[in-house]
Amino acid sequence: MVHFLEAERVSKNYQAGGGAPVQALDEVTFTADSGEWIAIMGPSGSGKTTLLNILGCLDQPSSGSVRIGSTDISKLTRAELVRFRAETVGLIFQQYHLIPHLTALENVMLAQYFHSMTDEAEARRMLEHVGLTARASHLPSELSGGEQQRVAIARALVNDPKIILADEPTGNLDASNEQIVLDLLSGLHAQGRTFLLVTHDERAGRCADRRINLEHGRIVETVVFTAEENEDFDEVLEELWMLRESAMHHECSHFTEMQKRRLVATMSRIGLLKMAGSEVDFTQAGESRARSVIRRHRLAERLFMDVLSIRDDAAVESNACTFEHILSPEVTDRICTFLGHPATCPHGSPIPPGECCGDGAPGEKRSSESTRGRAN
Ligand code: ADP
Ligand code: MG
Repeated sequence: MVHFLEAERVSKNYQAGGGAPVQALDEVTFTADSGEWIAIMGPSGSGKTTLLNILGCLDQPSSGSVRIGSTDISKLTRAELVRFRAETVGLIFQQYHLIPHLTALENVMLAQYFHSMTDEAEARRMLEHVGLTARASHLPSELSGGEQQRVAIARALVNDPKIILADEPTGNLDASNEQIVLDLLSGLHAQGRTFLLVTHDERAGRCADRRINLEHGRIVETVVFTAEENEDFDEVLEELWMLRESAMHHECSHFTEMQKRRLVATMSRIGLLKMAGSEVDFTQAGESRARSVIRRHRLAERLFMDVLSIRDDAAVESNACTFEHILSPEVTDRICTFLGHPATCPHGSPIPPGECCGDGAPGEKRSSESTRGRAN
């Protein structure tokens, strides 16, 4: 797969005033896909700004290469870099960097000017997009910090850049303005924009699809998913499982198309799903995780109906949805054994067998065909 952005062994040394050289980046390698939102995190001085400046064509690496789209930006001359930046990259800074004697509208139009030509109507539309229609003719000094940052976001967006790079965009904002800006960025990401966001703020980091941790100029890549995210992955796996099982369109998806697209992209990256043409399919790891979620869900349904005599379908379903995420493998096998290894859920769908279901040969998995006739 060709990634939208590829940084390979990027290093940056600063030689400041005759002192010892500072290695701000040390062989940083990572990729970003189109539509992805990556948070670059790490303590102060770890090289985040240096990395973002290189990706944003404001600086060049001492060694290594950076490709964005089909362009190797480490090979561009200074003039070519300026052009490439104007056409491809949208930049957002902690300090907003608005021109003080230009209005909000003129600040946005200035970015158009550097790109090609100005288009006032388009610039106004961008301000409307960030909720600042009424502030178009105000100077930066007449705007709050949150409003100034939204002008800077409008400016970053106005040329429809392929990638948006933001360096601590919420670093100077109070909590409520931070939330406004994060909501705005989330909305833009949902439209399919690619984001690299430098932050040391946990809240901002949590909005991202993936986090890259920098320490002393080196990457310690961490893929951290919350319990909610893992539950979403399970739901997607279940939907796909049921789709394959019934060969029918599964109508009651929990997710919007946009959420699904984002989940599928994340799950492909972490090896749960793969694309076969335009179709989504399980990887081996994804299939095995789906099998065990479905197994936990259907065993829980049996438990609630057969043992606890809950007859309300909605109550059974919602409880099973909770239990499927929290049952350990041991408890699942105990429930299965207690229930006599049922072959189907109360609605007749097969329960994938577990380790406990092998007859006489512990640990041996039986095929779903041979489990059909099991005692129910
Ligand atoms: P962060 O954004 O994570 O706080 P920076 O990328 O700004 O980190 O800085 C990484 C390291 O490089 C720091 O040790 C910093 O002092 C050093 N550094 C950054 N810019 C320069 C520069 N222009 N000249 C010399 N050293 C620099
Ligand atoms: Mg910084």
